[in-house]
Amino acid sequence: MAGSLPAAVGFLAEIRPDGGPPLRPDFASLGGRTELAEDTGGQSLRAVLLHSGAPDGAHARDRGRTVVFAGELYNRDELARLLPAGLSPDSDAALVLALFGSYDVHAFRLLNGRFAALVAAGERVVLATDHAGSVPLYASVAAGRVLAATEAKALRAATGGQPLPARPVRRLTGVHQVPAGTVLDVRVSTAECVAHRTWAPPLARRIVSENEAVETVRQVLDRAVRVRTGPDTPLVVLSGGIDSSSVAALSAHRSAGRIETVSMGTEEADEFPQARVVATHLGSAHREITVSMADLLRQLPHAVWAAESLDPDIVEYLLPLTALYLRLEGSGRRILTGYGADIPLGGMHREDRLPQLDTAVCHDMATFDGLNEMTPVLSQISGHWSTHPYWDRDVLDVLVALEAGLKRRYGQDKWVLRAAMGDLLPHEVVIRPKLGVHEGSGVTAAFTRLLTDAGVPDQQVHRAKELVVQELFDHVVVAGRHPDEVKTGEVVEQVAERLASGATAAL
Ligand code: AMP
Ligand code: MG
Repeated sequence: MAGSLPAAVGFLAEIRPDGGPPLRPDFASLGGRTELAEDTGGQSLRAVLLHSGAPDGAHARDRGRTVVFAGELYNRDELARLLPAGLSPDSDAALVLALFGSYDVHAFRLLNGRFAALVAAGERVVLATDHAGSVPLYASVAAGRVLAATEAKALRAATGGQPLPARPVRRLTGVHQVPAGTVLDVRVSTAECVAHRTWAPPLARRIVSENEAVETVRQVLDRAVRVRTGPDTPLVVLSGGIDSSSVAALSAHRSAGRIETVSMGTEEADEFPQARVVATHLGSAHREITVSMADLLRQLPHAVWAAESLDPDIVEYLLPLTALYLRLEGSGRRILTGYGADIPLGGMHREDRLPQLDTAVCHDMATFDGLNEMTPVLSQISGHWSTHPYWDRDVLDVLVALEAGLKRRYGQDKWVLRAAMGDLLPHEVVIRPKLGVHEGSGVTAAFTRLLTDAGVPDQQVHRAKELVVQELFDHVVVAGRHPDEVKTGEVVEQVAERLASGATAAL
């Protein structure tokens, strides 16, 4: 299996003039750990790589520069064309190293991928995320020392971090999250830091014919699915909605054998019949996994531990998927999802007016950063690598930029996607209205009930959810506790009591 996964799924790296105490980071992600120690450009680089069997592919060095890379690239063929003839790097890390030699920080403007990267280059350390920040990256920078890691909890022990042009992490002093689509260029000796944006969501909208829009969407999505599918049987987490059904259909279309699909539900709600229609149509090897609502809510701390997100709505979306991933046996699967299609297509927008649709798209594209919705750690806590074709850089550029009338058309949401997939899916699937995973599994309602049963008044439920998530974050990220030790029920009780006594202002 290892060959089909990225060489590394995470790392902690430290750069300083001399060595220091051993690195013992906490990670939620599973993986082998390989330690790296080398002198690079006059600095000492030490790292812990979280890998899936082939850590050598996760770092590369040449002429006083070292690249540490977690994740994978999706436009390797295009990138290889930029290299001198005869140079054929054997890993994504080596490819980034070669491009950095030619383009310096601007190399990161070229990459379409799902990654976090560090380049140690003499006096400089460069920290970079992909366009969507889909592999989160955190840093603590002080004069003479740079620490960077793909999980905030791995930097719990870091001290002395100075302010950076990046978002501070709650209650981890001096730790910041590298923004999406950004490179931070740090001078090690002084901790001076310059930020370069390498990607921004398109602000302009393209006017194209229906046919052109439909063909372009089909083509970019097909490519995004293809480059995300490894040599093993594709596994798609399938709700039966248009987004994940499209990914499954394109995978099946490309695949020589049967693909695998899996759906989750609870005793309160599921989308099993809808997913079954798609699975039957595609002939996939399909499984249904039912998780009890009590177990699901018990795993709330795991979702926060993995995503390191403070947004209760996001945690609600991510909880059913966390629970599903935890129940997939074996390890090292490559999983494709339909996650995120609604953001560029305004799919959550359920009425006909176009200005409101584009307002929603602009708002969501301007505010996704730092929510960690796309983080691979969600599936990495059970050793699986997940990837989201709708947030491929090329797909996102196309989808965001389509004029709103192609997204909402003939009374349908996500019209262009539905039209693009019309020939590969049953009609009932193509026209099925949106149902979010938090709704389809009943999680939102159950989490609300947990709070109201604890005495939280209806109008304070959202605030209470926010406080519960903050409290869980403080336990499993800030204090470094294992999520099995943190009881959702106790945290809910405490939050309810605090809200009742009015003692929440300072939180
Ligand atoms: P949604 O909120 O419905 O857009 O869900 C996002 C993604 O999560 C989907 O595109 C699917 O890949 C996956 N997903 C949603 N619901 C389920 C489910 N019940 N079982 C398995 N995967 C799901
Ligand atoms: Mg859905």
